[in-house]
Amino acid sequence: MPTETFEFQVEARQLLQLMIHSVYSNKDVFLRELVSNASDALDKLRLAALRDDSLDADTSDLHIEIELDPDARTLTVRDNGIGMSYEEVGRLIGTIANSGTAAFLKELKEAQDGAGAEGLIGQFGVGFYSGFMVADEMTLVTRQAGESKGTRWSSRGEGTYTLESVDDAPQGTSVTLHLKPADPDNQLHDYTSVWKVKEIVKRYSDFITWPIRHFPKAGEGQETPDAETLNSMKALWARSREEVSDDEYHELYKHVGHDWRDPLETIRLQAEGTFEYQALLFLPEHAPQDLFTRDFRRGLQLYVRRVLIMDDCEALLPQYLRFVKGVVDAQDLSLNVSREILQQDRHIQMIQRRLTKKVLATVKRMKSDDTDKYATFWREFGAVLKEGLISDSGNRDALLAVASFASTRAEDEPTTLQEYVERMRDGQDDIYYLTGESRQSIANSPHMEAFAAKGVEVLLLTDPVDEVWVDAVGEFEGKRLRSVAKGEIDLGAEDDEEADAEREKRTESYAGLLGWMTEHLKEDVKDVRLSTRLTVSPACVVSDAHDLTPALEQMYRAMGQEVPTTKRILELNPDHPLVQGLNRSYDEQEDRTGLGESAELLYGLAVLAEGGQPKEPARFVKLVAERLEHTLRSE
Ligand code: ADP
Repeated sequence: MPTETFEFQVEARQLLQLMIHSVYSNKDVFLRELVSNASDALDKLRLAALRDDSLDADTSDLHIEIELDPDARTLTVRDNGIGMSYEEVGRLIGTIANSGTAAFLKELKEAQDGAGAEGLIGQFGVGFYSGFMVADEMTLVTRQAGESKGTRWSSRGEGTYTLESVDDAPQGTSVTLHLKPADPDNQLHDYTSVWKVKEIVKRYSDFITWPIRHFPKAGEGQETPDAETLNSMKALWARSREEVSDDEYHELYKHVGHDWRDPLETIRLQAEGTFEYQALLFLPEHAPQDLFTRDFRRGLQLYVRRVLIMDDCEALLPQYLRFVKGVVDAQDLSLNVSREILQQDRHIQMIQRRLTKKVLATVKRMKSDDTDKYATFWREFGAVLKEGLISDSGNRDALLAVASFASTRAEDEPTTLQEYVERMRDGQDDIYYLTGESRQSIANSPHMEAFAAKGVEVLLLTDPVDEVWVDAVGEFEGKRLRSVAKGEIDLGAEDDEEADAEREKRTESYAGLLGWMTEHLKEDVKDVRLSTRLTVSPACVVSDAHDLTPALEQMYRAMGQEVPTTKRILELNPDHPLVQGLNRSYDEQEDRTGLGESAELLYGLAVLAEGGQPKEPARFVKLVAERLEHTLRSE
């Protein structure tokens, strides 16, 4: 097959431009990235060989080798791991599949100013491409384990790359960097220097469990010396806390988590006894873009006695902690245990319970000791953790202890339920909340009016999951969780007889209108009644205490479930001149045409006010326009 030339995908080209123009100040990390890829390739080969003994691959001496040639100015990272097929090279190396990277490029474009862009860049990883920071050409030769033919990929990082089949490639992958010309003023950055490479490996890749070798150059007339192994290969989780620096932990995190940033928190756990295991867990500082998508990949690895047996091991932590990255190394598990068996395994379930408790305890400690860190954590992962309120009733109390929510009390000060309850005033029996899309839209919703007027605190819940957990949890310390948009609200109106009589009289005077409107709007609402929650707006729509809210209905439909449309209730504000006017025209006029339209308009306004859409927008607009025209004419 002849050499073929391909164009890089647009995003890939943009990234390459960034690399070529050297936007990262620390270029050394390119080696960490190549070694990390090589180590993954070795892990993958061992796992594949474990699952399939007919795989025709050599696994006898899996290792990484770094070869330096100062004369030719090349640096090569070689592994004898899983390798890639011709098609894979094109797909994996020629395009950027990572949605996080694509999102990053978009952000970068938006942050036009230099300083902002610089900050952003440092946070995103670009793996293989980072080689172009130090090289003006990269060549990759690879042969997939079990295949006979290999592939050579080559590029100068500009717009195109070439692919060709090769007959004599060894198993695995070797990546050769044709380094940029040496900078005579900066010998420190000569990547053909052995000590430089040693230093980088030591700093970033010491914990890699495969040997990273280098063959020193033989002197004139001498035999080739033995290979030197540059890394200690010591599993960080098996070493004592004092022996390992934070930086070393952070490098391990970057390797398993595929992140370029430091983690927010490192959690160590050593379990002794009949079932021994060690765990090293990390809480990232940022939630990945795809956290809520089905194919989100976790970064939790399972080892058995220092041997990686499973990447992305979902049995070790509950779904709502899927963002936790790290390593669990168990002593007594079979090396070829399957995912299905792991899910059932009693020991694994024990580990899961223990790790869950440990993570929640860590978050709790963070909350009391380091509020900034906690605030970052909750902003990034609160929405995921709240899923646990629904799925993990055993840890509900622990989750509620660390969960915080926006509230009407103060703009930037989230509150726990505990704190809310402590602030509740005499006579308030329930914890009030309102759900919706954004703080702004719900804080201004008509449902809040009476609460604002009376100074009653309301929690403002804006994550989709909030709709569900409030129902699942139901109450906290004997106080019911109640939506301000559901059921009848009694905020302790004056309880004297005079006021009662007054209310009764008013209800009576509205009885005719309310009955008539209920009938007229029966397609849309199940009842029209007077409101106790409005002070400013003329009307709002509310749900019955146990009905599904429109957002939940929508969510179920999005998941493909059939749910009947629940009719809601229209509430009118009897103190509003518009509503009073309607009542007068009901009493005084025989012809109900105008009143019917007003009723529809009022209902449409109430729907709009909570961020919804009138059922027939065109008709709504037409009615409003006619009314406006009418007012103008009479002015
Ligand atoms: P990342 O490692 O973050 O996925 P890279 O751009 O570094 O991103 O690599 C893209 C993909 O190319 C890897 O996910 C892997 O599938 C493949 N790859 C890279 N290097 C190697 C290697 N040495 N051996 C086998 N596959 C590799």
